[in-house]
Formats: sequence, structure tokens, C-alpha cells
Amino acid sequence: MDFDDYQRGALRTAAPRDKKNELLHLVLGLVGESGEVAEKFKKWVRDLDSDEPRLDRAGIAKELGDVLWYVAVLADYLDLSLDDIATANLAKLADRHGRGVLGGSGDNR
Ligand SMILES: [Mg+2]
Repeated sequence: MDFDDYQRGALRTAAPRDKKNELLHLVLGLVGESGEVAEKFKKWVRDLDSDEPRLDRAGIAKELGDVLWYVAVLADYLDLSLDDIATANLAKLADRHGRGVLGGSGDNR
């Protein structure tokens, strides 16, 4: 499956684009699901002494899937191809790697 296939699949369970407040729903959903990923790690630290073999990988995978769904649907709302986003991201990182600036800060380094 490529990213655009995934994006088309995600849209089958998305609300209509013209639903009231849909853009805000998608942004908040992405933030919320990202928080659910962080919550898995919080519980791992709090309850499992950060013991890596006991990390809830299956649960984290589900939450990462939820993040991916919101990324895909939000991108579509903004008329952005998930495949294009992924390709551009890899190109950006490869360029930074080639120039030795992967570390550091600044969106446009
Ligand atoms: Mg979730």
C-alpha cells in the first residue's frame, strides 16, 4: 500500500469535508491521538520503570495508526497528497543529512 492508497482508504471513514468545524475536528483529533501515544509512554515510565521489553508496542501501534488516519484526512482536507508529503519529507531529511545539519533547530535549515 502506498500513502495515497492509505489516504483514499482513510477518507472512507472520514466525515464530509463540509461538516461544520471539520477542519478544527481534524486538527484536534491529530493532537489528541498524538497525546494518546504519549500516554502509553507515560504509563510505561510511571508503572513499568521504563522497562523496554514491557513497552505496550501493540497499543502504541494502534495509537500511531490513529495519528496516521488524522494526518491523512487532514492532508486531504488541505488538498495535499500524503504521498507527496512523505516524499518531500524524505527529500528534506536526506538534504539535511547530506549537509550535516540533521541536528540543530529551525524548520528551514
Ligand atoms: Mg486512539
